[in-house]
Amino acid sequence: MSSYHLNDVAISIEKQGPSHMAKTSFPIRYGKYSEIKTAEYEFIFNLNGEIKFIRGLNVNWPHPSERLKRTDGNDWVYYSVGDDSSENGIISWLGEYYLPCLPYPSNAVWEYNYFSNPNIMNAFAAWSQLYANLQGARTEGQPSKVKDFINLICGNDESVLYEKSQRLRGIIGGRVSVLPPDTRYADYEIIPLIIADGCLYHCKFCCVKSSQAFQRRSETNIIEQIRQLKTFYGRNLENYNALFLGNHDALGAGDETIFMAVSEAVKAFGFAEPRTKTPMLFLFGSVDSLLKAGDEFIAELNRLPFYTYINIGLESVDAPTLAHIHKPLDSSKIREAFGKMLEINRTFANVEITANFLLGKELSPDHYQSLAELLHDAPVPSRGKGAIYLSPLKDSPKKRELLPLFFEIKKQSRIATYIYLIQRL
Ligand code: SF4
Repeated sequence: MSSYHLNDVAISIEKQGPSHMAKTSFPIRYGKYSEIKTAEYEFIFNLNGEIKFIRGLNVNWPHPSERLKRTDGNDWVYYSVGDDSSENGIISWLGEYYLPCLPYPSNAVWEYNYFSNPNIMNAFAAWSQLYANLQGARTEGQPSKVKDFINLICGNDESVLYEKSQRLRGIIGGRVSVLPPDTRYADYEIIPLIIADGCLYHCKFCCVKSSQAFQRRSETNIIEQIRQLKTFYGRNLENYNALFLGNHDALGAGDETIFMAVSEAVKAFGFAEPRTKTPMLFLFGSVDSLLKAGDEFIAELNRLPFYTYINIGLESVDAPTLAHIHKPLDSSKIREAFGKMLEINRTFANVEITANFLLGKELSPDHYQSLAELLHDAPVPSRGKGAIYLSPLKDSPKKRELLPLFFEIKKQSRIATYIYLIQRL
């Protein structure tokens, strides 16, 4: 790391933070990054010189642990500690110490519109001012390392960052409308690789589906995505420890496509190189693709150089609820998939299946009772592998009032249970 002072700002170029993420109630910067500190703000940049985080250091900033994060999709997300930063707060229902407050509509039980807080919005003005100052400083005689760093940042103004996010969508063939809940373990920092489009069921309640019928991508398409993604992430590739195989039912793409995609991605993105933490692989799967997955296939997933999370949308074990949400599956199939999830989690050390169920004021008492019974009677070691995520319906009114209902189910569940916050890339 090299540190410099330029007028009233401190510049640290290529600091090395811890390489693997831990759950902490205070912000830690992971991987390799650069930092500029003014008297009032801390700005963090990735290895491509793209702004990544802003945190206020002044007395008006809402909380010293809160910060703004820019995603690869170019959304600014505000990480809030909520109104209770103790163990009874956000961590108790999200499994993380921070609630990502999103700049777009989602299914959050606790909505916080950071745009209405001038103390947070001032951070964007400070970022614009810093950018302008750095532009002005380009002509001054700086050490070459500082000059290169400033030039790198100046090459990533707002319009360039926006274009990059469009390029990412172009490479993978559209926006990732939802990430699996398990990607929270990587702070949603994943490399997306789309191996199949569309989904099987087109459920009525779903706010993230595409209208496409399910179709796997060709090998040529997947290899071309990998080639372009490698260039897209450039130097910052080394900061990624997770791969997301999309889209809504990558598991349904079948073993040949999945293992081909993983093997090519491992080579191109360096996942086979020695790391302090096993890389993570994330997929969504449907009930049918989970039921179709043979033992040999799961055993092969288990041997990959990844810890693999597969998230399955089960939604409900109550037949009238499944009919109400237009999920074209009967409850016996949902129970069968749930049983298979428990079996895989028991048998394979490196594969973890997680499942989603719905939460909403308009759902019937039978939905909640059958769900609570299912989770209470699950034959698992207490708090074993395989989290359950309860996903609030996007249009459910008064989502904050769903929390007591959530805690009631969580109390009865033998499996770790959290709220699912739908986030896009
Ligand atoms: S819940 Fe899953 S299967 Fe149903 S429409 Fe949404 S993406 Fe498709």
